[in-house]
Amino acid sequence: MVAHLFIFDIDGTIASFGGITGRAFNRTFEQLYDRPGPWGKVLPHGRTDRVILRECFAVASVDGDFDAHFRMFIETYLRNLSESLQTASGARVLPGIRELFERLDSNPSAFLALGTGNVERAARVKLEHLGLNPFFPVGGFGDNADERKEAIADAVRNATLHYQRSFAPERSWVIGDTPYDIEAGQALGLRTLAVATGGLHTMDDLQRATPDVLLENLAETERVVRVTGLGR
Ligand SMILES: [Mg+2]
Repeated sequence: MVAHLFIFDIDGTIASFGGITGRAFNRTFEQLYDRPGPWGKVLPHGRTDRVILRECFAVASVDGDFDAHFRMFIETYLRNLSESLQTASGARVLPGIRELFERLDSNPSAFLALGTGNVERAARVKLEHLGLNPFFPVGGFGDNADERKEAIADAVRNATLHYQRSFAPERSWVIGDTPYDIEAGQALGLRTLAVATGGLHTMDDLQRATPDVLLENLAETERVVRVTGLGR
């Protein structure tokens, strides 16, 4: 059996959170630092939580040891994120995603992993809310990664350990909604599938990053299966 690995980004690729993440971020800033949160002044798309926060701290003039601030921020942010997900509407799984995961999950050649810039606990809180955690026993996250490719490399490493098999780069797919996802996959020699569901990057933007496959969305399950070579 030839194993295929599918590494999925979260925000803009499998789900949209309708501003919930940004509001939780800013609320955390207000609570901890008594100043308006700078989300909206930084571009979060495709970047890791560490890089987003480093920039937020700079914009909001929060000085001091970054890692200490980062740890404190994340604890409060996770509480706000859980609360916002419970109380605000707007979080939704993108079209076709649940069907695609079920299709991949039922194929013995397909293995799933997360590859996200979110810290792991934030990723898990978001997916828990949408009932998607069971599809992802493993992943690479933004806890220690400044660069997205570090999180993706962790996803491959952790998937190899968890599933107890090796994944050939030509059958390992990085699936994401920004040029950063594509660049990270390319830097690691993996296959890349760009999807224009993130709301920021157009088909043209994504095409310029030269992904192996570019799709408007992931709504057509059989098409995704076919273009990634799983159906062959
Ligand atoms: Mg994304």
